[in-house]
Amino acid sequence: VIEIKHLNKSFGNHEVLRDVNFTVNKGEVVCLIGSSGSGKSTLLRCINLLETPTGGEIIYNGENILNDKHDVRKYRTHLGMVFQQFNLFNNHNVLKNCMVGQLKVLKRSKEAAKQNALKYLKTVGMDKYVNAKPKQLSGGQKQRVAIARALAMDPEVMLFDEPTSALDPEMVGEVLKVMRQLADEGNTMLIVTHEMEFAREVSDRIVFMDKGVIVEEGPPEQVLVNPQQERTKEFLKRTL
Ligand code: ATP
Ligand code: MG
Repeated sequence: VIEIKHLNKSFGNHEVLRDVNFTVNKGEVVCLIGSSGSGKSTLLRCINLLETPTGGEIIYNGENILNDKHDVRKYRTHLGMVFQQFNLFNNHNVLKNCMVGQLKVLKRSKEAAKQNALKYLKTVGMDKYVNAKPKQLSGGQKQRVAIARALAMDPEVMLFDEPTSALDPEMVGEVLKVMRQLADEGNTMLIVTHEMEFAREVSDRIVFMDKGVIVEEGPPEQVLVNPQQERTKEFLKRTL
């Protein structure tokens, strides 16, 4: 679905991404791992064009979306994004949070948006909380609503940037459980995570980044259990 080719990103003269190449295929779950500052968030932000890459191509369904003539707004609607900080609308209740994007961006009818919101709130186990405001929810519940909100846009790819790292430990499990379920259902997912156990279980492929380059990628058994590169071994030694 998404193919990244020779992607570069610099902030001033600080090169954060250097010649990044990789693909996310339909139905695939790819986990992106690497130490702090290696460029994982920047890569996700480039993919959804929250940052403008300095060079390279992002091919989405055969088209380079970095071409001037490409409709960026339309492209973004195909990506569901879940952040570390849930970024819910605090003044809206749970149901409305999952409806606004559908109404404003996809121009769906109120009824259609509501039904779709309810469907995904059920998927994440938050359908009992439709009338709650975000401040009445725990971190894990907020993150599950954020996931439902992204799913309700019926994106082709879900992007997650450390969705559990702002959560209290006892809430990490409930969010990972939902993500595991989405993976099992065949959703296309690109996940930045420090949860190695989770990454090993759900990934079709693991991509290890260090200092803005992809050092190694492959199936979890290869990258996590039998890494080929010295830098990957070092990283795993520090995290496991
Ligand atoms: P973490 O695991 O801590 O989230 P990361 O792998 O997501 O790290 P990034 O947030 O992508 O790393 O940052 C990569 C590098 O880019 C860092 O050195 C960071 O300081 C720099 N950087 C990120 N965003 C900006 C920005 N807007 N302006 C300048 N430098 C930035
Ligand atoms: Mg990050």
